[in-house]
Amino acid sequence: MKLYFNARFYSMDDQDNIYQGILVDKGIIKECYKTSPNLADVEKIDLQGAYVFPGFTDSHTHSFEGGLYSMGADLQEARSLSEVYDLIDESPVIGNYKFAFGLDENKLKEKRFPTSEELDRVVPNNPLLLRRIDGHSCVINTQALEIIKFPQALAKDFTGLLNKENNDVAAHTFHNTLTDEAIIEAYQAADKIAQKSGLTSVHTMIGDAQYSYNHFPLIQDNLARFTTNFVLYPQFFDVDKALEAGSKRIGGCILADGSFGSHTAALTRAYNDDPTCLGSLYQEDDFWTSFVWSAHKNNLQVGVHCIGDKAIAQVVNAYVKAQEKDPKDLKHQIIHNELMSDESLALMQKYNISAVMQPMFDHLWGGDNLFYAKVLGIDRALKTNRFKTILEAGVLLAGSSDWYITTLNILDQAQAAISHHNLAERLSVKEAIKIYTSNAAKLEGAGNKGIIAKNYLDNMTVLSQDPLINNSFLNNQIKAVIVSGDLINV
Ligand SMILES: [Zn+2]
Ligand SMILES: [Zn+2]
Repeated sequence: MKLYFNARFYSMDDQDNIYQGILVDKGIIKECYKTSPNLADVEKIDLQGAYVFPGFTDSHTHSFEGGLYSMGADLQEARSLSEVYDLIDESPVIGNYKFAFGLDENKLKEKRFPTSEELDRVVPNNPLLLRRIDGHSCVINTQALEIIKFPQALAKDFTGLLNKENNDVAAHTFHNTLTDEAIIEAYQAADKIAQKSGLTSVHTMIGDAQYSYNHFPLIQDNLARFTTNFVLYPQFFDVDKALEAGSKRIGGCILADGSFGSHTAALTRAYNDDPTCLGSLYQEDDFWTSFVWSAHKNNLQVGVHCIGDKAIAQVVNAYVKAQEKDPKDLKHQIIHNELMSDESLALMQKYNISAVMQPMFDHLWGGDNLFYAKVLGIDRALKTNRFKTILEAGVLLAGSSDWYITTLNILDQAQAAISHHNLAERLSVKEAIKIYTSNAAKLEGAGNKGIIAKNYLDNMTVLSQDPLINNSFLNNQIKAVIVSGDLINV
């Protein structure tokens, strides 16, 4: 038995209970004390005046890529092509490969992607995969070109940039040639980063959104090697295989549409910066209706990547059809849900459909003169990432990073949620905490997570400052996470 004491424990339960001591045994909370108890024969752990919350959960990540790329070059801060080349040059070779991620060509002074030829000068002898910040395009060098088998011949004027299916095929080739041990290593790196980020549970998408089974069983069999509770999603369309693997869910970033950045997100009204373009739906209505139904009837929760209002409406509609035929409490997910119409919101409320969203997207791209306003126009930019509207409508909202796309750090994510560019969509500190704790547990269908309470898992996150008093997550530090019976200082 362990007694954690000398801290303020916010239960985040419906009664807003606050405790002074928590007794745990073998990863389970045995008792919560309103005043610090005097117990004999227990190990006493002094949390030194810290503020403790239920363990934070990130409800949507690509932790394999996040872990893998964390060992490669992070280009998020690059502002010129020469900085890009330097960062790639300094990064280590992983297996036989070089990886780079987080490139936003709009932030480079040249405002363009590097070419294969330019990358060959930096990495002449290893295949290189350089992914755009949204993951929807990548650039490869000549060595990579030689190992990737594309389904269709590349354009004659190909200079290294890949989109859509070719982007997936390139990433897939790199990821699938890693050994099992390298894959586990990537998850171990992700595990460590999750702890440092203040997380005790992380939902992670496994597979490449194509029809690949990839390494779902490998990770499932090795879950005991990780401290973080990874919640696994087989990210593909094969319902039988998901059932065979014992999964409770299917999908993830299986794509209903693409991204605003590549003008592939499906809109009902044309792009502001390209009046001829409406983006595109990647599948027909019937495809989603039949896929969702086959998962739904087998009690699998479904998650689908939907960015534009047209794609969101399409997938919501498939969920509605399944729910009308046979109502269930599966909380099917609209992932990203960036530009949701009022009609879709009403249906999500009525048919128990959840929203799994990324506050960091607004932080990076919201505001009057930033990316959303440029591609969508200000009127629609004001309708992006509608966190408060969604909560007020009574729709289940879970917070997430889409890591490796944005940072996994929970303080940065929660701060983004309370400082939305659109004042009307800002969450309170308490709401921001809930979308990463109790709401995440509801999304997962985990009855023993998300609050600090007797008989719940001992998952807790220990902070140096009290965000509820400070009304901010800034100038705060993640001191430790408590998970599966262990206190891990970070
Ligand atoms: Zn994703
Ligand atoms: Zn996605």
